[in-house]
Amino acid sequence: MFPEVLGATRCVFVRYHQLNFRTANIFTLKKILRYFPSMFSLRVLGSGSAGNAMLIQSDSTALLVDAGLSAKQLVARLKQCDVDPFALKGVLLTHEHSDHTGGLRVFCTKYEIPCYCNSLTAEALKSELTRVLCRVFRNGTEFTIGDIRVRPFSVPHDAADPLGFCLAHDDVLFGVLTDLGHAPGLVLESLRGIHGLLIETNHDEALLHQDIKRPWAIKQRILSRHGHLSNASAAHVVRQLLDSSPLEHVILGHLSKDCNRPELATQRVDEELKAAGHSSTKISCATQEAITETIMLGASSGTFPS
Ligand SMILES: [Zn+2]
Ligand SMILES: [Zn+2]
Repeated sequence: MFPEVLGATRCVFVRYHQLNFRTANIFTLKKILRYFPSMFSLRVLGSGSAGNAMLIQSDSTALLVDAGLSAKQLVARLKQCDVDPFALKGVLLTHEHSDHTGGLRVFCTKYEIPCYCNSLTAEALKSELTRVLCRVFRNGTEFTIGDIRVRPFSVPHDAADPLGFCLAHDDVLFGVLTDLGHAPGLVLESLRGIHGLLIETNHDEALLHQDIKRPWAIKQRILSRHGHLSNASAAHVVRQLLDSSPLEHVILGHLSKDCNRPELATQRVDEELKAAGHSSTKISCATQEAITETIMLGASSGTFPS
């Protein structure tokens, strides 16, 4: 069923039972809502070194993670998703690099959307954020945007204070893990119990080594522990998460245009899933040019890690 229909149907049932609250037993209400589970979905609007942005939607909240596409592109791609930019509750930032913040200033100013980031990222973006409402949070401290709970955690990357996120709506969890050189134990622990994951598969190591456009120093930066995840290292992270998470869907993102291909990234992660006996986990690959399909999460249940 389309998410809009599912959400609307659920609202009708909630309103009906609110009107008849005295006669409707709360347990009956809960039973009915189980047949109309709450909505938690996402669409990657674009991903790669030329710009990253992702739309997250729940029953009553829509927000972006990163705003690395131009404001014009963000508006055009949101329109394709039937989302009015004025309806967004915020833009949540992973870090200050321009491929994650390129459209931030114009987009947030024009549509009066608050930007959520930590203090060092806010400091790094000081000149960009002068006319933007900035809501600063602390790493590791959970907060909410509408009905979505956000838990930010540190990742190793060459930015001021880069983050990954565990986002939760009801008992459905979604992890955002992009722009990191490796995944320490704390990162894996922060993503325990997730139903969906956006993970960076930046490069195929062999293609990166063969690449003639990038100087040696850049290659070293990409391959470093504060650089970017290769297909193999992302597959290894996914494999490790399978022990603690009912992963329904993995979305691969931030693919290098020159040093990766969607089929290589997909094949590598697929091999790892199959080797672990998780052949039912779906894989999608986000691209720079096109929006992904709507990915609905929550077929299986879970709990927000405490
Ligand atoms: Zn990036
Ligand atoms: Zn970055």
